[in-house]
Amino acid sequence: MQELHIESPVPHRSLCTDCGVSRTSNPKQCATACQFIQPDYKTFEIKIHGRTRSQTKEDELHFGVFNQMHKASLKQPSVGAQWSGITTRIAEKLLQTQRVEAVITMQPDPLDMWKPVPVLIDRAEDMHKARGMRMGYAPLLSMLEPAIQLGYKKLAVIGIPCQIYALRALEKSLNLEALFVIGTPCSDNTSTENFHQFLNLITPHPSEVTYLEFKANYHVELRFKSGQKKEIPFLQLPLSDLPKDFFPLTCRSCVDYTNSLSDITVGYMGGEGEQWLLSRNAKGDELLALLADEVKLSPAKSHGKRHSAVLGFKKNVELAAGGLPLRKMPNWLRPIVAWLMPKIGPRGLEFARTRVEMKAIESIIHLRREMPSRVKHMVPQHFWELTKRYGLQPSASEINQELEKQARVQ
Ligand SMILES: Cc1cc2nc3c(=O)[nH]c(=O)nc-3n(C[C@H](O)[C@H](O)[C@H](O)COP(=O)(O)OP(=O)(O)OC[C@H]3O[C@@H](n4cnc5c(N)ncnc54)[C@H](O)[C@@H]3O)c2cc1C
Ligand code: SF4
Ligand code: SF4
Repeated sequence: MQELHIESPVPHRSLCTDCGVSRTSNPKQCATACQFIQPDYKTFEIKIHGRTRSQTKEDELHFGVFNQMHKASLKQPSVGAQWSGITTRIAEKLLQTQRVEAVITMQPDPLDMWKPVPVLIDRAEDMHKARGMRMGYAPLLSMLEPAIQLGYKKLAVIGIPCQIYALRALEKSLNLEALFVIGTPCSDNTSTENFHQFLNLITPHPSEVTYLEFKANYHVELRFKSGQKKEIPFLQLPLSDLPKDFFPLTCRSCVDYTNSLSDITVGYMGGEGEQWLLSRNAKGDELLALLADEVKLSPAKSHGKRHSAVLGFKKNVELAAGGLPLRKMPNWLRPIVAWLMPKIGPRGLEFARTRVEMKAIESIIHLRREMPSRVKHMVPQHFWELTKRYGLQPSASEINQELEKQARVQ
């Protein structure tokens, strides 16, 4: 197992999540590899999945190309995992069956369990060290060169969407014999330092917290060293007490919530309390098959209606981005709505669609306000399809004619 020792400071670019490319021997690759410069999802979808997301197959516009979609849980959940541990178990199986020689992923920093540290794992029995969610980003892809220097030709990478976009852009140049990509969704990330501020606001005992998750039942779950658990409704989170720049523009304008370029996406959004799996291509099917009867699968279901929730969100983002006060709910109403939301709000796949649409709206509004010239380059065409039903459409200067032309040729 090899850890990355990060000595140099984060290289400076205005939109950068330090995915690791700028720390390789050829940092100029950022120009073509970066999700925040000129991403080209259509071309990558064709290369990786053999086709682009369908306009007619239900849910592909929202979640990207997929062959199979399930609610899922490991029958025996892994200790220390974020959910049931499907992500790290797939990687462990890849090592056990020698389909790969090493896995590039994150493990916790020994001095700060919330801080991700890139790591190269080459023994199946070490995979457990990567379990759980860290908050923040770290240069995952700077492990690619050390892996190749060690002679590894068959790799798996576990990563969040901005890391996986860059990995796909570099994939061909790596000359690997095999690459398996396990992605998790990602949203509302921030630096580990900022995350500590948030933790300090939501509990008087931040150093006792061992687990945190924003769950699909509209609550944040906290677990403590004592074994105690606590759920806080989203509506009662002190979000208005956070500094304005708490979420960096990268994460407010990120365009790939569901990690659409991975072979398999393992999340929880459409899982109604279980995990949510999307196998996107033949490799993803192979990864899922590795779990055999260790995994329980069932159809992902949908309940409720999202339209008014998404529209209300859009109005609030517009006000906030314009520096105006938000439409705040009176304090007396909050506990009632917090109680009602898990019962009548969008649930299952409808919850996942809600979050994807909210993210698309947020990305467009924040980019328009803070970096309007980037809208044309960063916002993929399918986003506009998602946002048009909420009255958010591109101006002529916001459409990337070049990418449109290429897509028509393909
Ligand atoms: C910042 C962040 C935000 C997320 N937001 C959502 C969301 O909104 N909706 C949703 O459905 N899912 C989200 N996820 C994914 C979700 O939290 C779980 O990671 C996923 O469901 C897998 O659970 P598991 O039990 O299979 O994972 P485990 O088996 O516990 O494995 C987790 C894997 O994730 C890796 N990992 C942990 N933290 C990071 C990090 N900061 N950067 C890169 N890799 C990391 C670990 O190294 C490990 O390989 C998010 C993940 C992160 C890191
Ligand atoms: S490719 Fe990675 S390191 Fe380079 S600018 Fe983009 S996020 Fe930063
Ligand atoms: S929200 Fe997007 S940009 Fe931010 S860390 Fe997650 S994938 Fe990267």
